[in-house]
Amino acid sequence: MTENLIGKRVPLLDKGWLELIDMLPHPATGVSGDLAIVNAARVSFLGESKGDEKDKKLLFYLLRNRHTSPFEMVEFKFRVRAPLVTWWQWARHRVWNFNAQSGRYTPFEENDFYVPPVWRKQAASNKQASEGEVDAETNALLTQKLLAHYEQSYTLYEETLRAGVSKEMARFFLPGFNVYYTWVAKVDAHNLMHFLKLRMADDAQYEIRVYAQAIYQEFFKPALPWTAEAFEEYILKE
Ligand SMILES: Cc1cc2nc3c(=O)[nH]c(=O)nc-3n(C[C@H](O)[C@H](O)[C@H](O)COP(=O)(O)OP(=O)(O)OC[C@H]3O[C@@H](n4cnc5c(N)ncnc54)[C@H](O)[C@@H]3O)c2cc1C
Repeated sequence: MTENLIGKRVPLLDKGWLELIDMLPHPATGVSGDLAIVNAARVSFLGESKGDEKDKKLLFYLLRNRHTSPFEMVEFKFRVRAPLVTWWQWARHRVWNFNAQSGRYTPFEENDFYVPPVWRKQAASNKQASEGEVDAETNALLTQKLLAHYEQSYTLYEETLRAGVSKEMARFFLPGFNVYYTWVAKVDAHNLMHFLKLRMADDAQYEIRVYAQAIYQEFFKPALPWTAEAFEEYILKE
């Protein structure tokens, strides 16, 4: 029986979350995601399931040999709340479909800003990355300063709205990378594996890595257990 993951919501970062809002094949059909992939591949011979052992073997063969189109028959649609820094990187993945909350329609609220759990240090070997963290005293001081910065920015935002300025312009006073946005994001399993390989990697920024890891652990693995096993064997390890 296929576990119904639709409606499951996972909290992430300080105020973010990830929720599966739809999936293909829909669990109500009783067809598992892995079987949908196998059935798509077997259309070449106008056949379907031949039992678990042969089906799993075929799925592993497909991924090992990069016969990727059957994996595009499975789709995940998420609603996601994440800071802009996460979206900035996520949206580079051109094969996802997105719809985003608009700061032109919806006013931002006072707690719509990301506060990192710790301040990570600049990595010595990778100019893009971070490693370790600053000492506890510096950590607390920087967080205090960030909160004061948010408060001041939000006060200016509200003042600007009260002055009759449009939402699309008042937001110029808000911090850029830390504002939380809600998006709907849809992708097929083939392209999701590509995203997961890049964004679960150690060199991906923490603020997107936690979303990629949650997609994998909480949704991809339970929805597609055979595909996840093959993905770890043939794509993650390569
Ligand atoms: C750790 C890390 C650091 C990064 N740093 C930077 C950076 O400093 N600056 C920066 O600009 N970006 C950066 N990126 C983004 C990166 O360059 C890619 O844009 C992003 O990872 C999306 O990868 P992609 O194009 O393979 O994926 P997708 O856009 O999801 O595309 C999937 C695949 O489809 C194919 N494809 C899609 N569209 C086309 C097309 N138009 N033409 C040909 N093939 C296509 C390609 O095979 C591609 O691999 C970084 C990414 C990572 C993971």
